[in-house]
Order: sequence, then C-alpha cells, then structure tokens
Amino acid sequence: MPHETPLIATIVAGLGLAFVFGTLAQRLKIPPLVGYLLAGVAVGPFTPGYVADQKLATELAELGIILLMFGVGLHFSLKDLLSVKAIAIPGAIVQIAVATLMGLGLALLMEWKISEGLVFGLALSVASTVVLLRALQERRLMETGRGRIAVGWLIVEDLAMVLALVLIPTFANLQAGGATTPASLLGTHFDLGIWGVLLLTAVKVTLFIALMLVVGRRLIPWILHYIAHTGSRELFRLAVLAIALGVAFGSTKLFDVSLALGAFFAGMMLRESPLSQRAAQESLPLRDAFAVLFFVSVGMLFDPFSVVRDPWPLIATLLVIIVGKSIAAFLIVIAFRHPVATALTISASLAQIGEFSFILAELGYASKLLSKQARDLILAGAILSIMLNPLVFAGVDWLIARLERRKAPSPSRVAPAKAIPVTQLKDHTILVGYGRVGNIIGNDLKQKELPFLVIEVSEGAVSKLKESGIEALAGNAAQPEILKAAGLPESRNVVVAIPEAFEAGQIVQQARAANADVRIIARAHSDAEVEHLKGLGADMVIMGEREIARGMIEELERSFPGASDEDSPRVAEARVL
Ligand code: AMP
Repeated sequence: MPHETPLIATIVAGLGLAFVFGTLAQRLKIPPLVGYLLAGVAVGPFTPGYVADQKLATELAELGIILLMFGVGLHFSLKDLLSVKAIAIPGAIVQIAVATLMGLGLALLMEWKISEGLVFGLALSVASTVVLLRALQERRLMETGRGRIAVGWLIVEDLAMVLALVLIPTFANLQAGGATTPASLLGTHFDLGIWGVLLLTAVKVTLFIALMLVVGRRLIPWILHYIAHTGSRELFRLAVLAIALGVAFGSTKLFDVSLALGAFFAGMMLRESPLSQRAAQESLPLRDAFAVLFFVSVGMLFDPFSVVRDPWPLIATLLVIIVGKSIAAFLIVIAFRHPVATALTISASLAQIGEFSFILAELGYASKLLSKQARDLILAGAILSIMLNPLVFAGVDWLIARLERRKAPSPSRVAPAKAIPVTQLKDHTILVGYGRVGNIIGNDLKQKELPFLVIEVSEGAVSKLKESGIEALAGNAAQPEILKAAGLPESRNVVVAIPEAFEAGQIVQQARAANADVRIIARAHSDAEVEHLKGLGADMVIMGEREIARGMIEELERSFPGASDEDSPRVAEARVL
C-alpha cells in the first residue's frame, strides 16, 4: 500500500526501476546513469502509472550527495586543495561569470527581466557534484592532476553557491521593495543590507572552516580511533555515518554552508588518519545506493513533453551549458598553461548542471525572481546535459586520442582503452594487480629476469612501475581490450593477484576464453572463492588465509622444536590443503 508507506515505496520503486533500466542501458552499451534518469522519468508525475513521492526522492538524493562528498573529502587533503587553488579559484569565478552572462543574454533575448536573467544564468553556471564525481571515478581520474583541479574547481563553485543561496532572498526583497517604495531611500538601506549579508556569510563560512580545521581535525579521528578500539564493526560503521551526516546537517543548520560542503570537510578531516581507508569502505555501499536515487529524483522532475512543446529556448539553454561553459573553461585552463588534455577533461566534467541548479531554480521560483518557464528550462537543461555528458566525454576522449597520436606515436596514458597497442612481449606472465601481493611477485619476476607485464587500475601505481622500467597497463583487467593489449594469446601465465573474487572471476573467465593453454593462478580468501575461480577456469587458486595459517604454524613449530608434522594434526591438515 504505497500511500501508507511512501518512504519505502519511493526507495523500492526508485532502486528497483533504476536497477532494471540501468541493466538495460548497460546491455545497450549506454551508461547506466541514463537508465537511472529514465527510471526517474517513469516514476515521475509526467508519465502515466505509479508516481513516487517527489519530495522524499529529493531528500533521499541529498543523502547521496552528502555521502559522495564525504568520500571525496576522504581522498582529498588540504594540501591537494591548496595545490590547485591557483587555477581553481580564478577558473571557477571566471566560468561562473561567463556562464551567468550567457544566461543573461539568452534571457534578454527572450525578453525576461534582468534580475530573472541573472538568477537563470547563475543556475546554468554550476556543475553537479554527483555527475562530475561519477564521471571522474568511472574514468579513474580522481587521483590525477586533472581530477584534482576539477574537484577543487567544484569546491570553489560550491562556495560561490553558498553565497548565492544566501543572497538571492535579499535580492528578491530588494526587487519587491524597489517596486513599491522610493528607491533612493531604500537603495542605501538595502545596499547596506547586501554588504551586511555578504559579510555575515563570509564570517560564517570562515568560522565553519576554522572550527573544522581546529576541532574537527582532532575530534573526528579521535572518535573513530576510539570506536575502532572497541572492535565493533557495527559501531564503526555507525560512527562513520553519524559523523558524515551529522557534520553535514549540523553545518548547514549552524553555518548555512551547503550539505555537500559540510560533508566534504568532515571527510577531509579524516584523511590524515590511518583509519580513513576503512571509513571510506564502510560508506561505499550506502553511497552508491543513494547516488542512484539522486539520478532517479532528477529524472522525476523532467517533463519529457516539454522538449517537443517548445524546443528552441531549451536548445539555446543546452548550448550555454554544454558548449558555452566548456569553451570558457577550456580557454581558462589553457590560459593557465595546462595541457590541452587537461583543459578538455575539465571542460567535459563541467559541461552539465545538476543539484545546485535545482536548488537555485526552486529558490528563485519561490522568491518570485524566476518564472515557471525559467525554472522548467533549468530542469530540462539539467536532465539533458546530464544525459549527454557521457557523450561529451566520449567526444573528448576521441579528441585527446587524436591529438596525442598526432603529437607522438607512443601509446598515451589518457587515450581510451581501445587505442592501447598490444604488447611486444611473448611467452610472458601477465600480473593483474600490483598491491601487497602483486608487488612481491613482480619483484621476484624482475629479479629472475623473466618477462612480465602488470595490469593495475591505480594510475599512480602504473606511472611508478613505468618509471622503474616495468611494462604496465592502466585499467581494469576485466575489460577485454586491456587483456588483449596485454598479449593474452601469446602469454604463458596469468596471475590474478587482486582481492575481489567476483572481479577476479571475470578476469579468469575472459583469460580462459581467449587462451585455452595459458596457466592461470588466482588469489582467494575463502573455500567458496577457490571453487568459484576454479570453476571459471583457474588452474591453481591460492587461498591467502591458508598461507597465513601455514606461516604461523611454521613459526609455532620453531617454538616447539620437538614436535613433528605427525604429532600435530593441524600442521598435517594445513599441508594437505
Ligand atoms: P592488494 O590487495 O594490496 O594486493 O592490492 C590489490 C591491487 O589490485 C590494488 O593495487 C588494486 O588497485 C589492484 N586491482 C584491483 N582490482 C583490479 C582490476 N580489476 N584490474 C587491475 N588491478 C586491480
């Protein structure tokens, strides 16, 4: 009975349909994100059938934004943020100014008021956090220089929006007042008001940041360390969630900063602590689920018929978002003497609008600065620009690949996977994963001068490997193009040294399908995983925990030199296994 449990109904319908549409999209080789948006359209009020609760869906989406920004904060240190300030601050400000002016120009063409045009332009100028982070994560760009600039840029935009959200109601007051009372008298009064509000906002944001840096930086890791010592995983998870959500919500209420910004700082405070990795892992599943709900809730706002009804203003709005903003960002990044590839990636990341624009649109509409038409244009612009974003990225990838090819014939690290040439190695070992396990194997192979090649998802690890003269491919080994580039048909061994059994299974299966004779050695952590990997074609599966037990038993044997294998049934058992 959906009427009695609207929250459950919304979550079930949102996640359920997103799953179905996302899977369909994946099968059709479209990004799943488009599927989530369409799921939103399907449960939205503009299509027949079940209609989910829009207000609830939006609030659930906010949870996703909080968790996402918390995760970004966890990977982002203050040093990273400051290291990109030289480009991120002027970049974001100039881009916001250019986009706002373009929006204003468009508004004036449509004969709207200047105030309406300004708010409209401002709404078109800010990119969506969720879309940007998803795009960077999917391409594994988060830890790269380009990724850092994009995130820093986003933080500055976020701060600018904090200011805009505070100023818009004041601005609306000024508008309403100016219409009914002498402007000269009230002009000074409101001028002071605006400056006062500005100052107050600046003080609040500064206070918030100072509090986080001084108190949060000590208190948050202290709480987590304390909880980690209790040994309760459940409490640790709870602590992570309570901190992420609590800081975000508290800072919004107390300091008027956005939820996203509060969460970002909460995450950043944890970054220096060794527990951060664990904290990040704990928040992952919830984060992904709620990020999906974000896209569903965006889809729900969209009236698909609006596109057909009045296409021209919408096309112009889209051009501002996708083309205008991108060109501005591109030129700014180039002006700062960054490479073309960086400029293109940043432009593509920002060529969309999302949650901030919705908030601005709603606020503008509520304070009568925006007409319904302007609000709907912003919504439709957001949806379509989010849908088109993967295409924009594909275009940029293509352009980067072409540019790099023209510059130098050597393989490019940023080129899409398909462009990677196949290795020259023959009869070699393909080592998948270069973490705690892989790097020991790699060192051994290197010492013995045996030919090998590493596949690793972490770009940082790949560049280090290349520097030390080891052949390495950046990417997920589950992708067929990457395995092909590693020369699978000509290889002698494949060593799957990654901890995740499902992904390892994918790799084993593909490797076996492509080469029936290659020897596949895989890594597992339980008996079930051993069976799974063997079933998919692994010749040998080493279970980590068993090897650890063996090592420990050997150590024990040393402290009881008299005891032999026969005396100790455990040793015998471990040896048989
Ligand atoms: P460890 O558990 O410390 O041995 O680390 C495993 C390593 O494998 C990490 O460096 C990961 O980045 C890497 N890794 C995990 N999944 C994949 C994958 N699908 N393809 C390539 N590398 C991976």
